[in-house]
Amino acid sequence: MFELIKLPYGVAGLEPVISEKTIGFHHGKHLQGYVDNLNKLLPGSGLEGLPLEEIVCKAQGGLFNNAGQILNHNLYFTQFCKGGKALSDGALKAQIIKQWGSVEAFRTEFVAKGVGLFGSGWVWLSAKTDGELVITQEPGASNPITQGLKPLLTFDVWEHAYYLDFQNRRAAHLEALWQIVDWNVIENRYK
Ligand code: MN
Repeated sequence: MFELIKLPYGVAGLEPVISEKTIGFHHGKHLQGYVDNLNKLLPGSGLEGLPLEEIVCKAQGGLFNNAGQILNHNLYFTQFCKGGKALSDGALKAQIIKQWGSVEAFRTEFVAKGVGLFGSGWVWLSAKTDGELVITQEPGASNPITQGLKPLLTFDVWEHAYYLDFQNRRAAHLEALWQIVDWNVIENRYK
């Protein structure tokens, strides 16, 4: 049985960037729904007992959608903290600067790819096995691990992630998220 991930902050802990109301629905209702659905679909599927990542790589249809959304949201909710934590002068920052020229240029492309994703999905920063970074747009419940990539950072562009706070202003929401990204977490995922 999978369980709803516990938030590493209070339900109002990301105010005002993400409101208490949005976290309440997003974590407490949407993510809980994916967890409940997966637990209903797993028995008899042949995938019960496997780690979540393996289920995402092997499942199809509703099983994939619910497992993928759990993995996506688990990585999403655990990458934030109040006030954020800065990117330190380490391997990840060096690689970003090597590929994009500056952290600012990376952020601009990341947000542009989130804004440019049609409909519901996710924009991801991931690493290849050799450490090279890549930004991908993933539709629906998809996760870059299905392409052999290591997921590092993600912005959820499903409307449920921002509509209560920003309505149709997806770009403004994505820009605001930089204020709460915990880059320590992202750096640890890159190791
Ligand atoms: Mn979501």
